[in-house]
Amino acid sequence: MIPANFEYHRPGSVDEAVSLLTEHGEDGRVLAGGHSLIPMMKLRLAEPAHLIDLNGVEGLRSIAEVEGAIHIGAMTTQAEIIASDDLAARCPILREAAELIADPQVRACGTIGGNVANGDPGNDMPAVMMALDASFVLRGPGGERSLAAREFYEGPFETARDDDEILTALRIPARGAGQGQAYCKLKRKVGDYAIAAAAVVLTMDGGTCSQAAVALTNLGITPLYAEAASAALTGTAVDAAAIEAAVEAAVAITDPAADLHGPVVYRRRMAGVMTRRAIETARARATGG
Ligand SMILES: Cc1cc2nc3c(=O)[nH]c(=O)nc-3n(C[C@H](O)[C@H](O)[C@H](O)COP(=O)(O)OP(=O)(O)OC[C@H]3O[C@@H](n4cnc5c(N)ncnc54)[C@H](O)[C@@H]3O)c2cc1C
Repeated sequence: MIPANFEYHRPGSVDEAVSLLTEHGEDGRVLAGGHSLIPMMKLRLAEPAHLIDLNGVEGLRSIAEVEGAIHIGAMTTQAEIIASDDLAARCPILREAAELIADPQVRACGTIGGNVANGDPGNDMPAVMMALDASFVLRGPGGERSLAAREFYEGPFETARDDDEILTALRIPARGAGQGQAYCKLKRKVGDYAIAAAAVVLTMDGGTCSQAAVALTNLGITPLYAEAASAALTGTAVDAAAIEAAVEAAVAITDPAADLHGPVVYRRRMAGVMTRRAIETARARATGG
């Protein structure tokens, strides 16, 4: 339960952090809130020789509006997401999901950037970001690039981020009129990861759904964007038949592992329950119902 030896670095700027990552390559690892990485290091599932702590880096902890989009610095903690009334008014699913993560102690240190960069299919924010059609801003030695959340996850703890890149911010498109959002998560008790969870963002326009996005947590080897389920809602009144079709399409892409909480058949069944609940809640919120 004691991590392997490592050298600790505390850069003061993103550029300095990127050069340290570039210098140490696969041996370097960024430290944010430490609530996923440190447990992995204690279990010796991660043994970075160089730990590059982002907590001294200026400018990564912010919530702002940039060119109409919500811009959240990667080092913003989950507790800060919850505490921001302005953010909750602009994008309520963020507070709803953050409140379901772990416990207050973890949320006080755990960052939104660490949550999405980690690549654990059990993390809650990746599915939320997929449903919101967010993008992630990455800075590496060659400059900055932006990647869609829906394209970011490649395998368990594997993402499209290069080893020498730092996630600096998340960009979330502004919420348009008639948009409803919901995150529904089933867990046994406070501190548990999801048995199954679903994020839904949909827009109702004159009784018809003009845009819908459904994404799932902890139901496969990566967070899952449920494209067919999203399409099954778009252009409909989000009535019983459309919801049934969307739930069926969402469950069809799940491939959870059996765990202490139950067998595969139970977790897939719960995927359907959470998806249905999130769609119904998002629709009600979109129509003020
Ligand atoms: C008891 C417990 C219960 C938990 N329950 C949940 C839960 O229900 N839902 C949930 O979503 N999470 C849960 N977590 C995890 C928690 O939310 C973590 O805080 C989060 O997964 C990682 O954020 P962090 O800031 O702690 O990142 P760290 O642990 O510091 O880093 C995680 C990984 O991301 C990389 N990384 C971090 N920041 C960046 C960056 N800016 N750029 C590039 N790479 C980066 C690190 O190198 C590391 O590989 C739980 C944790 C604990 C200890």
